[in-house]
Amino acid sequence: MLNKVSLLDQKVAGQKVFVRVDFNVPLDKQQQITDDTRVRKSLKTIEYLVNEGARVILASHLGRPKGQVKPEFSLKPVAKRLQELLPDRTVKMAPDCIGTEVEAMVAELANGEILLLENLRFHKAEEANDSVFAEQLASLAELYVNDAFGAAHRAHASTHGIASLLPTVPGFLMEQELKMLGSLLSEPIRPFWAVIGGAKISDKIGVIDTLIDQADGLIIGGGMANTFLKAQGYELGASLVEQEKTSEAKQLLEVAVAKGKKILLPVDVVVAEEVKAGTVTKVVPVDGIEGEWKALDIGPKTIESYATVLRGAKTVFWNGPMGVFEIEDFRKGTEAVAKVLSEANATTVVGGGDSVAAIEQLGLADRISHISTGGGASLEFMEGKVLPGVEVLQDKA
Ligand code: ADP
Ligand code: MG
Repeated sequence: MLNKVSLLDQKVAGQKVFVRVDFNVPLDKQQQITDDTRVRKSLKTIEYLVNEGARVILASHLGRPKGQVKPEFSLKPVAKRLQELLPDRTVKMAPDCIGTEVEAMVAELANGEILLLENLRFHKAEEANDSVFAEQLASLAELYVNDAFGAAHRAHASTHGIASLLPTVPGFLMEQELKMLGSLLSEPIRPFWAVIGGAKISDKIGVIDTLIDQADGLIIGGGMANTFLKAQGYELGASLVEQEKTSEAKQLLEVAVAKGKKILLPVDVVVAEEVKAGTVTKVVPVDGIEGEWKALDIGPKTIESYATVLRGAKTVFWNGPMGVFEIEDFRKGTEAVAKVLSEANATTVVGGGDSVAAIEQLGLADRISHISTGGGASLEFMEGKVLPGVEVLQDKA
């Protein structure tokens, strides 16, 4: 159980409720949303509030407009999408997130109606966590709901400053994220294995460090495996290796041994001379990477041994693809891990932008216990850090 005051305990009927959502969706050049996952994940909270008769004010950032009004970062396409997802409700779009025009639109909101404010980051004050700006946002409402787990690792006006000015509760998505990620750090059902991949070890040293303590073992793949292999004395050819991180990698391996934890590294890899589709590839053992060849995916023997371990796991956390999965020739490792997790009789949690994208591309998202909406936030949470947007939620008495 989450030890936070719940939205379910609040009177919301007829109330003006400010909901910080994470509508930071990807847009193409025509301002079309290419993936509306984040909007759909926010629906549970929004639908609850409108069904209860609240007057719902939604606020989000989108992209990095850096404190300037830039039409290409407008949330208008999101308002349109939200209206399509909630055909029986009224979704209005505000021209800004503060100011008299916005205040007038809020005053006119009927119970059960929704007003989406314009991109918070059109104002520098948002990221500066400016207290006057936070007051302007807070003045719009009577209750603050934070449902933006993906932005919870930032102390901004809409994720942090506003919380000291209004009663503050988590939305249902935030609650779910905290419950699922939190369970990995408190009482995971064992064996608990973590699968860590992606490009670089430097992005994830903190998480690996925590997971050596929390998990029973770590499975390493992707570009970062190269740095671990280098630390063990292997030659990596022209592979991505973080030379300056090899001593830290060596240390992590030693710490794991000292704590009796396993760290599994690839025994074979798929190599190519060029990182492009249709190029010549071959499978070699990790002591057979030569000259200009690059390790771009884990090999079949590695896949087999990783899959065997994962089939026996009761809890799995996965962050980071096993190879350059964007290119089909180097996707097998990532695909195999995704498939094993989708079939596992275990609690499976996936965090990280690219790993989540891979799972969704493969159509396996439904078969994963929890897909985190927070890339950076989920990593910081898993490092054991207290996120500013979580810290502000009220603990239960
Ligand atoms: P996530 O977003 O899931 O946290 P990362 O951003 O850390 O993952 O890493 C994803 C990137 O790592 C992908 O773009 C992928 O192409 C790259 N990558 C994975 N394996 C390798 C490799 N062996 N060499 C180079 N890049 C790799
Ligand atoms: Mg990424």
